[in-house]
Amino acid sequence: MKYILEGHEMKHAAEEMLLHLLPTETLTRVETEQDGDICISALTEQDGCLCAAARVTIGGETHAGSIPVLTEGLDELSRKRAVSTAVKTSIYDAVVPFLEEPPVWGSLTGVRPAKLARGLVERGKTRGEAAEILRSSFHVSPERTALTIRAAATAMELDQEIGPDDISLYVGIPFCPSRCYYCSFVSSTTAQSGALIEPYLETLCGEIRETAALVRQAGKRVQSIYIGGGTPTTLSAEQLERLTAALADSFDLSALREYTVEAGRPDTITPEKLRVLKNAGVGRVSINPQSMEDSVLAAIGRKHAAADVLRAFDEARQAGFREINMDVIAGLTGDTPETFAHTIDTLIGLAPENITVHTLAIKRGADLTDKAAAAAQHETVSRMLDYAYHALPQAGYGPYYLYRQKFMAGGYENVGWCRPGTECFYNVTMMEELQTILSLGAGGVSKRVDRDTGWIERANNPKYPLEYIRAADRLANGKKKLLFSKK
Ligand code: SF4
Repeated sequence: MKYILEGHEMKHAAEEMLLHLLPTETLTRVETEQDGDICISALTEQDGCLCAAARVTIGGETHAGSIPVLTEGLDELSRKRAVSTAVKTSIYDAVVPFLEEPPVWGSLTGVRPAKLARGLVERGKTRGEAAEILRSSFHVSPERTALTIRAAATAMELDQEIGPDDISLYVGIPFCPSRCYYCSFVSSTTAQSGALIEPYLETLCGEIRETAALVRQAGKRVQSIYIGGGTPTTLSAEQLERLTAALADSFDLSALREYTVEAGRPDTITPEKLRVLKNAGVGRVSINPQSMEDSVLAAIGRKHAAADVLRAFDEARQAGFREINMDVIAGLTGDTPETFAHTIDTLIGLAPENITVHTLAIKRGADLTDKAAAAAQHETVSRMLDYAYHALPQAGYGPYYLYRQKFMAGGYENVGWCRPGTECFYNVTMMEELQTILSLGAGGVSKRVDRDTGWIERANNPKYPLEYIRAADRLANGKKKLLFSKK
């Protein structure tokens, strides 16, 4: 589809909304009106009033939308946001008549819907009023509105438990035994990069020691640790022992309230590794089947069967883990609503404390066939999520955090469900940007959150393991700036 911007340069906003509603389109910006499918997004000013308008033609049919932009009394940044929202909403109004049904998230395109709801409540709205704004201004469905308000409430509760000097740590291990076909993480297989694991671990332990010294100097307290990846349990038991010892020896962990390790792939889990983790004080592990159907697991490139998940889960319980998360993905190749329901039922039968239901995200740069296939999955994914969202509450799970990614099949979301009192603190604080999180390892993005103003500053580590190892002597610089800058 071609698109034209008139009177504004909100290219990102316009493209984001068009792809949110028409995910299979390839967008091309043009300067003049042309035949064929086109969107014209304009910002006009008349008698001091701004108005965002859109006209969309698809298959010879045309629809339009227009929204006044209220900018009175706004500072420059807030004005830009208001214009961006109006541009998006006008495009939404013009495109929706072409769709069989409106998206469940309406015109909301952001990654963190609960943060938006929380902001409304913090600015004086009641939860009911915040819900009404989501429904009427953003056209969010009643079910997604309820999920959002629940997640916002959990975030507000946990927010009360964060002191001004509390921070969390993320430690990344970007290695996996094989690559899942849908993977969008920076993760190398052991076959490709196994030789890098040792030097990577050595560099990481160095970064841990340097970061710990900075954290001590800055007077910060570590509230939670999350070792993710990749698949951290790709490391051997001895390497895991070295990693956890480096953390325990370097940081003061006396205020630690949660310690998670992603033991994502059951084919990497052994009783010995679980023992090492347990002895190191890890309380929460994530064992991620994604599906309990062997044919689906084979189709997505996992080198394990559903029976391995059952074995790993049992071993984790035997090792004493009382907080286990299990991830599933709706929309995987070869999965059907019936087999997905079987996966959900099997997990409920195991009774882990957390079950996280993801929706397949199409990789950035995926080809058109992938995008079209994922878009065609819309109906299937909708049925899968409907099943999960009814079965989980009946089994005693409640939603506690959610986020969206771009290019998700059907424009849906990822939702963390938990038994009461087992919310993952790190997941909530990270997703809702409640506190400073220092990220160690390749691809780590540290964020300093100013809890008074909401201002966020970032410092990025090199993305790939080799680059990271080569940058060993300057890894602490970004974190030093975050911890000690005056802003
Ligand atoms: S286990 Fe996770 S990080 Fe590893 S390849 Fe699969 S999706 Fe990617």
